[in-house]
Amino acid sequence: MMPDTARLMAEKIRSIVPLKDLAKKEINLTGGEASQNPHIVEIYKIFRTLSGNVRLHTNLDISSEKSKRWERLVEITRLRGRIDITLYPTVWESRQQPLLRKIIQLQNGLIVNLIYESLADLLRQINILIDFFSDQDEKKFIPILELLDLFRDRLKTTIETNPQCREDDFLNGMGDLENYVSCPGGFIFAVNAIPSFYVSPEGIRDMTSLPFPKDIYKVECTAVRGVIEIMTVLQTGEMTPCCDVGNLKCKPKFGNLLADSPETILQKFGESQKLMASGASKNIENMKTDKAGEWVEEGIPPFCV
Ligand code: SF4
Repeated sequence: MMPDTARLMAEKIRSIVPLKDLAKKEINLTGGEASQNPHIVEIYKIFRTLSGNVRLHTNLDISSEKSKRWERLVEITRLRGRIDITLYPTVWESRQQPLLRKIIQLQNGLIVNLIYESLADLLRQINILIDFFSDQDEKKFIPILELLDLFRDRLKTTIETNPQCREDDFLNGMGDLENYVSCPGGFIFAVNAIPSFYVSPEGIRDMTSLPFPKDIYKVECTAVRGVIEIMTVLQTGEMTPCCDVGNLKCKPKFGNLLADSPETILQKFGESQKLMASGASKNIENMKTDKAGEWVEEGIPPFCV
């Protein structure tokens, strides 16, 4: 994406009230690896005019502090943007860990996504985070360690007592555990555990996740319920009202931020919302009648309800 495209998007967002209100809450620069874009700092500044809360998601697979990508991330934190990461155990030691140390000194918060293939894999990743925050030896991070310790203990109990558990058993095992905590001084930490999925060579995602192969992983579409809580905008301007960065293959779009007028976009909101609602009710029916996984003519993924 070039700054001119970002400027056009920002102007359009400003002229569409529901999008303007949504952007004000949070803008997340994600999908692909935004830090690779040489213009990302400029693009950040443009979106910053819409929201005080602009985040950038990175894999932090960066070789050194001399890298341009790292310099861009530092500049964004200096401008009060926030960097969030997905933990990748394969590059953790060599690449992510040293730079994450710096990031938690540069900003007053962090979200870490953990994508796990099994409960044992999730436990390994939680332990990586526990070791990391223990090593910082900073009093202010004690609440993070308390949260992660509790996470680890509950997860361990589930693994030991019910290793092949269903997703409900896992969730019951985690109980009322929150996924975020605030530390003295205002540092806010959140951890998101996200199951991973098999995706076919055609790019179609399985109905069930890898850690819970017996349970259909349903995605509750808020647009179906008339609420837009999140909007993904691709670089092409196409919009989808969920966190689909093109991998869920949802066909009904909410208009094109670059090509359509505000009136056309609002009209497409309404039309696509109806399509999604109709598709979602067919999906529910299919799940009840042993036809889970069939694609409905509305073009929404079969796990969306
Ligand atoms: S139907 Fe599914 S993929 Fe489409 S917007 Fe809703 S949640 Fe996203």
